[in-house]
Amino acid sequence: MRAMVFEAVGKPLRALERPIPSPEQGQLLLRVEACGVCRTDLHLLDGEVEIAEPPRILGHQIVGRILDQNGEEGDRVGVPWLGWTCGECVYCRSGRENLCPRARFTGRDIDGGMAEYTVADERYCFALPEQYPNEQAAPLLCAGLIGYRALRMCGEAGRLGLYGFGAAAHILIQVARHQGREVFAFTRAGDEKAQSFALELGATWAGSSEQAPPEPLEAAIIFAPVGELVPLALKALAPGGTVVCGGIHMSDIPSFPYSCLWEERSLRSVANLTRLDAKEMLELAPAAGVHTKVSRYELGDANRALDDLRNGRFTGAAVIVP
Ligand SMILES: [Zn+2]
Ligand SMILES: [Zn+2]
Repeated sequence: MRAMVFEAVGKPLRALERPIPSPEQGQLLLRVEACGVCRTDLHLLDGEVEIAEPPRILGHQIVGRILDQNGEEGDRVGVPWLGWTCGECVYCRSGRENLCPRARFTGRDIDGGMAEYTVADERYCFALPEQYPNEQAAPLLCAGLIGYRALRMCGEAGRLGLYGFGAAAHILIQVARHQGREVFAFTRAGDEKAQSFALELGATWAGSSEQAPPEPLEAAIIFAPVGELVPLALKALAPGGTVVCGGIHMSDIPSFPYSCLWEERSLRSVANLTRLDAKEMLELAPAAGVHTKVSRYELGDANRALDDLRNGRFTGAAVIVP
């Protein structure tokens, strides 16, 4: 099969021929139909998130078709970032498998979906809502699921800020609007493309991250991997509000006066996802009428997709189709 393989930090992915993997006990063989590209893939390429055992096939938003031993096609499933958990530790036994210390992640510790075939733990293969074509379903699997977990951490906040308006935010705004929340979208200064995209999707206001929103926020989610946004988001909060950091990596957070946190404001991160998050979000997305906007790339163009993501050349999400 053809695969795009990570070999070392700072090097582009390499197009290679690899044997089709064989599923082990508890795994399914999947023919990849589509695989979403995520900012985490850039962190892996740049070494900000470590791949302990290269070479590795990246890609953790996999839409695949199950193949049985005879090569017969079965159901369509989605595979997310969380690819394996121990099932035994205190976190796994208390509904917090996202924090399992032995967790293995798709496209980091396990070969992912930037290939024609992959294998996946059947416990982490999710049925996908039928109304989504393969390419539109792929971004639900990380941008959607981890975004949803971040939204859950915002509680009942009615005025929600989203810092960084990429793949996750473009899905989440649709869920938040469906839930009756007001959304305030913050982008890089001058990114009019992203700001008008946010307004099209129902944002009450869109502006640059340095700007104060017209009303204080009850919660904010930071998707951009930029630590400077943390004090800015805290300053935009009403008393009692929460800032949730939704990414796996962020540059250092500058120091800020205690007054930014005072009055019961809180700051937290969100790590990975649980199967419950997946179940809830994959039901909620079609109910909320979530439509994903995708830019499609051939498998051999994975490096171009990553470069376009890095440089903000598209709105919505990038998806690779082998
Ligand atoms: Zn991701
Ligand atoms: Zn565990």
